[in-house]
Amino acid sequence: MSTNTDTDYDLIVIGAGVGGFDAAKHATHRGLKTALVECRDMGGTCINRGCIPSKALLAAAGTLRKIQHTEIFGISVEGIHYDRAKVAAHAMGVVEKIRTDMTKTTEKMGITVLRGKAKLLEPQKVHIETDSGIQTITAKDIILATGSEPFVPPGIEIDHHTVYTSDEGVRLEQVPPRIVIIGSGYIGLEFSDIYSTLGAQVTIIEALDQLFPGFDPDIGRMAERILIKPRNIRTMKGVLAKKITPGRPVRIELSTGETLETDAVLVATGRRPNSQNLGLEELGLETERGFIPVDNRMATAIPHLWAIGDVTGKMMLAHTASAQGVVAVENILGHERSMDYRSIPAAAFTHPEIGFVGLTEPQAKAEGYKVGIVRTYFGGNSKAIAQGETDGICKLVFDQESGELLGAHILGPEASLIVQECSAAIAKRDKIESLARLVHTHPTLSEVLDEAYKRAAG
Ligand SMILES: Cc1cc2nc3c(=O)[nH]c(=O)nc-3n(C[C@H](O)[C@H](O)[C@H](O)COP(=O)(O)OP(=O)(O)OC[C@H]3O[C@@H](n4cnc5c(N)ncnc54)[C@H](O)[C@@H]3O)c2cc1C
Repeated sequence: MSTNTDTDYDLIVIGAGVGGFDAAKHATHRGLKTALVECRDMGGTCINRGCIPSKALLAAAGTLRKIQHTEIFGISVEGIHYDRAKVAAHAMGVVEKIRTDMTKTTEKMGITVLRGKAKLLEPQKVHIETDSGIQTITAKDIILATGSEPFVPPGIEIDHHTVYTSDEGVRLEQVPPRIVIIGSGYIGLEFSDIYSTLGAQVTIIEALDQLFPGFDPDIGRMAERILIKPRNIRTMKGVLAKKITPGRPVRIELSTGETLETDAVLVATGRRPNSQNLGLEELGLETERGFIPVDNRMATAIPHLWAIGDVTGKMMLAHTASAQGVVAVENILGHERSMDYRSIPAAAFTHPEIGFVGLTEPQAKAEGYKVGIVRTYFGGNSKAIAQGETDGICKLVFDQESGELLGAHILGPEASLIVQECSAAIAKRDKIESLARLVHTHPTLSEVLDEAYKRAAG
């Protein structure tokens, strides 16, 4: 394949989600003439239908939960109620603000934004279906950042009102009296927190025998004990929702032969990559279940063609997409950079939160490490006791031979922040011995780590 050096742009980024946006920003900052192509709203999933609106709803739910539990401080609050429409308006207002800020940034930085659906004609040539016709542009390099959409299993019919995905869920157009959530990944778990706090009776249906399959088993068990059982949330494990028919009521036919009736169903069964109709087949680029294979430098099998974010299927998180975007641009510039997925943290913003990074205990064992484990509890942490938030666990996974910290799994208040320290430690491949010498402010929630490092060091 010949390389075209006489092009309209240095870089074309297809998809203006957080991955594509951060790649375009970094490229422009580094002096590359960059075009960013987007066929829907600027900001993609995270800003419009994912992280941002869901965290705004969780913030409302968390505030309500706090107000409902003030007795331990001797504070009584009466007549607590919420206005669904205002909670939803807050979330959509945050979306609007962040999307507008992002659009202004692209303008200020001089990134060319092209609105329309892009398709690759050649590795360095893109055809865009815009409102005013077809536009063809070329670039030295192209980054595919086309993201993902909710995956809906066969047999489930979506009507967007009574049976819907997170795309509609984040708009909070209703708080149904009864809702069934299909899937117990972090999205299902976060919505169970939101809906149960807002007064819905929640049932979670999980096809696997274990709830929260993505988490370390200790965290999964603790999540069930803290986030599910005390909250009037019913769970069904090892049960498949074979057929779901929208309506009032919604009917769910289960693999057990039972039929459930409910007011609404939120389908949270994972995400599928946006890689169709991108021209990949014509270019001979094979996908794996639709995901675009990339190396650790974010290069595809075709020279000058890169892919980042959810469409690569690697840790489908906003900050992963952003980090991959920066890595891709640095490699385009000739600076060798690669991704270190082990040090990327993840969180579920439930109340309390779950934060984790690195390997789970089973993963570390499967990789052949001589695994050491320590567990500390928020029940023994002075700050957590003072705040009345003593539910939670901190589990460290380390290599007994080298002392390297392999993973950290935390369920407790501010877990998403606490785990960040372990992310930095794992990025540097720090050893437990040196971590045990760190000094943590007293009294802080981060002392769960202080105690864990010291116990692991022995
Ligand atoms: C409910 C929910 C909550 C979430 N919460 C979190 C969280 O708390 N933290 C976190 O890190 N992650 C979270 N995520 C995941 C996060 O949103 C995604 O990992 C992230 O948005 C992926 O970014 P991306 O840039 O790869 O793709 P996307 O954000 O999906 O963006 C891709 C963009 O490409 C555009 N596009 C696609 N095809 C074309 C084409 N042919 N031409 C032009 N444009 C095209 C799309 O319109 C889209 O705007 C959440 C997701 C959901 C659904």
